[in-house]
Amino acid sequence: MHETAADWETVRADAVALMSRYVQFDTTNPPGQEMAAAQWLCDQLLSRGITQDVTVHEPLPGRGLLVARIPGEQALKPLVVNHHLDVVAADPAQWTYPPFSGAVADGFVWGRGTLDTKSLGVMFLLALQRLVREGARFRRPVVFLAVPDEEAGSQGMRWFVERYAGEIDPQWVWDEGAGGNRGVFGPQVLYGIAVAEKQVYQVRLTASGDPGHGSMPHDNNATVTLLKAVDRVLSAPRPVRLTEITAGMFRAVAAGQKFPTSLLLNNLGNPLVRRVAAGQLTANKMVNALLRDTVSLTVLRAGYKTNVIPESAEAELDCRLLPARRPKSSIVGWSHTSPTRGSRSKAFTYLRRPGSHR
Ligand SMILES: [Zn+2]
Repeated sequence: MHETAADWETVRADAVALMSRYVQFDTTNPPGQEMAAAQWLCDQLLSRGITQDVTVHEPLPGRGLLVARIPGEQALKPLVVNHHLDVVAADPAQWTYPPFSGAVADGFVWGRGTLDTKSLGVMFLLALQRLVREGARFRRPVVFLAVPDEEAGSQGMRWFVERYAGEIDPQWVWDEGAGGNRGVFGPQVLYGIAVAEKQVYQVRLTASGDPGHGSMPHDNNATVTLLKAVDRVLSAPRPVRLTEITAGMFRAVAAGQKFPTSLLLNNLGNPLVRRVAAGQLTANKMVNALLRDTVSLTVLRAGYKTNVIPESAEAELDCRLLPARRPKSSIVGWSHTSPTRGSRSKAFTYLRRPGSHR
């Protein structure tokens, strides 16, 4: 099929319109309430002639889950293309344009879900539409899947796996991971491929102390104990670690870079080069996360009145470990006993251990 620039301009405009409409469904999870978005996707698949074999399920009240199938010519296991319908919360005060407006401005579609992962749904949808329209033949069946509740409990995917995994038995599942990013290594868009995931390791620290009056400070203040412990964890060194996979990625990126960046990226295996380049590389938070274990302090709970020393304080830490790392050796400075005092001022709770997702 002969393609013209006008064809692609039509696709681009269609993608923008779809993306804008899709993010206007407020699927903030909790509560998710993805049904309207799932129904809309169903309409799109049907009206665009992608397939007539579309089912919207309701695994939980108000939560939609869509399964669409395109048959294959051979008896092969299907390819599943999956994305999730729900999004994480967005505070409108922090946004240039309201998070569910789908505003098209400054060369972007604005909205919660444009990156994670309604955009992926739009890409799958438009790619399939184009292939179907061009008369492409699918050797194996393709299953277009859109699930609710990925961001909170993954109840949608669990429901799907329990009922359909045996029947569908995919050869591959394409899901979210890396995407196209501009500005990470220069102005060109870099399309990454996710081949592994960092391990989620989320913990709660609880410090206990002696309650008291704010007018009479003492040395067993739970909040102070907690702050010292948190500071110790956050300030522990977490060195840059280059794996074979990240080294390979940097070598691939190097090809599009100018000297001396190209030389540095090609030779990160050399400890001296790594030392020179590390600061520059890790200045970008995305690249930094690729190169080391990370710890983010995300939740603090302590105190209820200005003149009262509380008896306990809590912190939650979101730690992400490189794929091959073990928690014990990774969270340096970590201890299962009290960082500062005896047994009366410690508690350590796993919220999520490696093996669980996100
Ligand atoms: Zn996601």
